[in-house]
Amino acid sequence: MIIIMERNATKVQIQRVIDFLKDNDFQVRHNVGQVHTVIDAIGDKTTITPGRIAAFDGVKEVKIIREPFRLASRDRKPEDTIIEFSNGVKIGGNNKPVVIAGPCSVEADYGALLEVAVAAKEAGCEFLRGGAFKPRTSPYDFQGYGEKALQFMKRASEETGLLTVSEVMDASELPMMLDYIDILQIGARNVQNFKLLKAVGKCNKPVILKRGLASTIREFLLAAEHIMYNGNNKVILCERGIRSFDSAFTRNVMDIASIPVIKKYSHLPIIVDPSHGTGQRYLIEPMAKAGLVAGANGIMIEVHNDPENALSDGKQSLPIPMFKDVMKRINKFMDLIKEEEVAIR
Ligand code: PEP
Ligand code: MN
Repeated sequence: MIIIMERNATKVQIQRVIDFLKDNDFQVRHNVGQVHTVIDAIGDKTTITPGRIAAFDGVKEVKIIREPFRLASRDRKPEDTIIEFSNGVKIGGNNKPVVIAGPCSVEADYGALLEVAVAAKEAGCEFLRGGAFKPRTSPYDFQGYGEKALQFMKRASEETGLLTVSEVMDASELPMMLDYIDILQIGARNVQNFKLLKAVGKCNKPVILKRGLASTIREFLLAAEHIMYNGNNKVILCERGIRSFDSAFTRNVMDIASIPVIKKYSHLPIIVDPSHGTGQRYLIEPMAKAGLVAGANGIMIEVHNDPENALSDGKQSLPIPMFKDVMKRINKFMDLIKEEEVAIR
C-alpha cells in the first residue's frame, strides 16, 4: 500500500507509521517530498489493513495496489471459471451465453408457470427462474409462496428439462431449498448480508449473486469473495442495475461497463438482468443485447403469462408472445456475435 501523509504531518507522526509497519514485518520505503511524505509499504495486509493505517494521526490517504478480493481475482486464477451442470450446460468462459427466463414470483397456478417454462424451453433457454421468497420493499406486497412455489419449480423442471433458479433470503431455508433447485440466487438487497453469504458459501450449489442497488464493483466482488472464502467457488455474478438520480424512464441504471471491468479483474462468470436493470419491457431486448456484446455469459429475463395481473414486477415482465419474438432475435444475435467474435471475452 501507499501511504500519503498530510502536508503538515510531523516527523514524529511519520516515524510512528514507519515503526508500526516495520514492527509488523512490512518492507518500508519513504520519500520526503516538498509537500507530502509518501510511504511505500509491502507486507501482509490480513491484519494490518489500510483502514488501521488510515487511523494514525498525520495520515492523509492510504491507497491499495492489489485488489482486496483474492479468490475472485484474475491475478490469482487467470483462466475463466466455468460452472457445469448435471445436464452438460456450462456457464462461463467461451461457452454460449445461457438464458434464464421465468416469472418474478411463482404464483398459485401451476399451469401458468408451466406455460412460461414450456415457452422458455422452446425458445432455447437453459434455466427457469421463479421467486418463492420475495424481498419486497413493502410488507403489504406479495411475499412469495415459499416451499409450495419451490415444489412447482421442481415439477416444471421435471416436465421441461430446464434447470431452476430461485432466491434464498434466509439461511434457515437453505437446506430445504437445496432439494428443489439448481442455482441459489442472492438478491440485490442481500448482497451484503454476510451471514447469508457465509451460509451459501458452505453449500455446494452454484449461486447467482446480484449486484446491490448501491454496490461499487469492488464491494460486489468482495461479496463474492465472502462466498468463496467459505468454500463455494461456483459464483455467477449478475449485473442488475444500480440506483441513480434519474428514475423517470428507467427503474435502475444498467452498468454495462461493469461487465468488461469485472471480466478484466475477476475470473467469475457474469450475467445481465435487463428486467430489473431497466424496469421496462421495451428495454429488455436492447439491453440484453448490449450485455451480450459487453461479454456477458448469460441473460436473465422475467416472463409472465399475464403481466397485467402479475403479483410482482408485471411492468417489466415480457408476455409470452413478445418473449418468443425477443428470443428469436436474441438467439440470432448470439450466433452473430459469436461468429464475428464481437463480444468482449
Ligand atoms: C428478482 O430477481 O426477482 C429480484 C428481486 O431481483 P433483484 O434482487 O435484482 O432486485
Ligand atoms: Mn422481479
